Amino acid sequence: MLRVRFAPSPTGALHIGGARTALYNWLLARGRGGEIVLRIEDTDRERSTEENVRQIFEALEWLGIERDGEPVFQSQRAERHAEVVRQLLDAGRAYRSSAGPDDVKAFKEANANRGFRGRDEGEGAVRLRVPDEGVTTVVDVVRGSTPFENALQDDLVIARADGSPVYHLAVVVDDADAGITHVVRGADHYSNTPKHVLIQQAMGVGTPVYAHLPLLHGPDGKKLSKRHGAASVQELRDAGYLPEAVRNYLALLGWGYDEDTTFFTTEQLQQLFSLERVSKSPAVFDEQKLRWINGRYVRELPVADLTARLEALLGRTGLGDAVAVTQEKISTLDEFWPLARAFFEDPVDDPAAREKFLDPEAGAEALTVARDALERVPEPWGTETVEAALREAVERSGRKAKAIFQPLRVALTGTTISPGIFETVALIGRERALARIDSALDGRRVS
Ligand code: GLU
Repeated sequence: MLRVRFAPSPTGALHIGGARTALYNWLLARGRGGEIVLRIEDTDRERSTEENVRQIFEALEWLGIERDGEPVFQSQRAERHAEVVRQLLDAGRAYRSSAGPDDVKAFKEANANRGFRGRDEGEGAVRLRVPDEGVTTVVDVVRGSTPFENALQDDLVIARADGSPVYHLAVVVDDADAGITHVVRGADHYSNTPKHVLIQQAMGVGTPVYAHLPLLHGPDGKKLSKRHGAASVQELRDAGYLPEAVRNYLALLGWGYDEDTTFFTTEQLQQLFSLERVSKSPAVFDEQKLRWINGRYVRELPVADLTARLEALLGRTGLGDAVAVTQEKISTLDEFWPLARAFFEDPVDDPAAREKFLDPEAGAEALTVARDALERVPEPWGTETVEAALREAVERSGRKAKAIFQPLRVALTGTTISPGIFETVALIGRERALARIDSALDGRRVS
């Protein structure tokens, strides 16, 4: 059975690269009837705070990426790591040496084209004994097979002088013990892989299938960072993206099914995802593209579903009608409130809009035309009757529709951007609409 793992080091919010790694592992497990293990690599006790661990759980939960079984905490496996180190020492596959970085450097100066080889001194850090002959071949689904000459590899440190294991040893032992069949991780770990294979060989355990995912760049071709906008899952959530849209977009960062399909449901991703279609070249994270994808997901949600999400986010109830008239206009959840605010609160004050559209002449004249029309809208008051009355008034006035509607919009909402003007008027209601027009006409501001 396929078994994969997501093995984050809890150093803070879950970054987009880490989220993509988690997603690919999860898609692979779900699509192939396998399992995904969550392993928290918390051996760096200073950075692995409880809060940082919580952030990883929270981000995965929001993304809808569930693990199988209980999470493994690497720090709790120290005994087992020490046991393997002892076994490697006993079997002569490792030795203790006091050689430090200066000794390694001196060795390499004296021995051109050779990896460091130390002497067994019976004390000091534990180094793996790397064979002098042969090659270690890293087989990677994304990058193909690459032979690494053993003679060039250093006898690497697998445990410090105090006995604590280093990352390379811990990761190999934990993967082996968990029965991991596929290691899918970021390209930054590729150069570690020959070391991991050497440790596996010394331990006498099998080597999993490796797949190293391409680096993520921003649209400017530079390594992805905060400069490029939202950098973590938490920031994407707070910016009002939907988890299903984020899953769709993250899946495309290094993978594609064909040239031109952009939209995949999560079920489709689970069925179609394969490591063979993961690309080697860096993928570009472009928040504008995510926003565009998200907009389509937002527009396709049933109104009741979108309403429930917005009510949860904003801590309000009764948003249904406002959602119905804004849904077409928003790409992210946080674009909702600026458009819908005028249905619940007094108009905002935007002096630029006021000066441009509510001047005492043309602006006041437009508002008078609109006011007369709204006063006479027949029952039942609604988008259709409002539209008919306003259109007729525009026609009679001989002015352009925009010359009436923009001042009206500013009077009702305070801003130049709102949902459709007829829907906006209808939802604000006759009484409030007339009161807002009146206060705009005499420069007062009431609801
Ligand atoms: N803990 C490592 C990281 O967060 C990942 C190790 C691995 O996937 O092998 O980068």
